[in-house]
Amino acid sequence: MRQAALLSPANYPALDKPPPTDSPEVQQWIQDVANTGISIPDISVTNIGEHRPCFLRGASSNVSLPQGGCLNNPDVVADTSRCWWTCGGCTRTTDITECPAPMTWGLTYDDGPSYYTSDLLNYLDQENLKSTFFVVGSRVIQFPNILQTQYIGQHQIAVHTWSHPPLTTLSNEAIIAELGWSKKVIYDVLGVTPNMMRPPYGDIDDRVRAISTAMGLTPVMWTRISPVATFDTDDFDIHGGLTTVEHVLQNWEDILSNATSRNSGFIVLEHDLFQQAVEVATGYMLPDALAHDPPFTIQPVVYCLNKPLKDAYIQTNDNKTNPPAQSGVAVTLSPGAPGSLQATGKAADHNSVAPFRVNTGLLAASLTGAAGLAAGLGVLL
Ligand SMILES: [Zn+2]
Repeated sequence: MRQAALLSPANYPALDKPPPTDSPEVQQWIQDVANTGISIPDISVTNIGEHRPCFLRGASSNVSLPQGGCLNNPDVVADTSRCWWTCGGCTRTTDITECPAPMTWGLTYDDGPSYYTSDLLNYLDQENLKSTFFVVGSRVIQFPNILQTQYIGQHQIAVHTWSHPPLTTLSNEAIIAELGWSKKVIYDVLGVTPNMMRPPYGDIDDRVRAISTAMGLTPVMWTRISPVATFDTDDFDIHGGLTTVEHVLQNWEDILSNATSRNSGFIVLEHDLFQQAVEVATGYMLPDALAHDPPFTIQPVVYCLNKPLKDAYIQTNDNKTNPPAQSGVAVTLSPGAPGSLQATGKAADHNSVAPFRVNTGLLAASLTGAAGLAAGLGVLL
């Protein structure tokens, strides 16, 4: 009951708005980050702006990357030392950008939970598939029971911020607030805290990386095979009319073609916020992948890294395969190149699952609201 009371929206920041940084919670998290001793690089914020066009997520494998956001930031783009993924695709070895084993798909869905997540979960159950879900804190407040269903179903839960901003545009304190509130609401619902995050739009640089590291979060991107070709289905844009199902399916075919010729596995960007994206996933992409010959291994990101599910959470990580973050960010600058993955040596133990610390009292909680979700869509677009 205590947890149910904590989940009252009154105890959290406003949905889909950047949380204030002067709250006691955020002030504590700022102090916690300082206490890690990890230095946050003095990198200026980018000015991508309030309107976040879809191209910030990069482009599909056969689509040239529009350069609008990058053209607005010529000095920032020229400063390759900050390793800004959005313009140029720079990654660090600390970024997870692929699965080590060939023909292995690290399955991920972003921006939920939503009204349509259950449809996806039903399909995944039917096919005995597990996924990683990068959840938005504001959506967790609305759909706590769905988050619990995902967790009980042994899917991996990971952080996707509170209000879904491009993080390089924010101050250090605002980034801490976005990640901190998302971590907190997930803990309040599940009793565990994820140790992986995905920056909205993939918008990350060394400042965001350092803050993420200090907050115990490892960035997970999606596979990029050239500066202008990423494994982004663009499924998110069907809902807004910015693309068509046919186009998304063509993107998928291109991803599939590139995926099968790689000497390592891959991670694809998909979403479970809108009905159209879930329908494309369950009606075409997943059945297509399952029927593929030779077969794909489809699993959550933590599994594809040869770690047990319990290593996906700060409280249950055994610190052997996924040690706590060290000070500083590893530096291997390779603009435009896919990140190289540091695979761990421990054998997979997929039967070892995180202890269920779900607050069952919350299963009856119903905080869902159409108005809130609708309000969120404007932000998420
Ligand atoms: Zn997102």
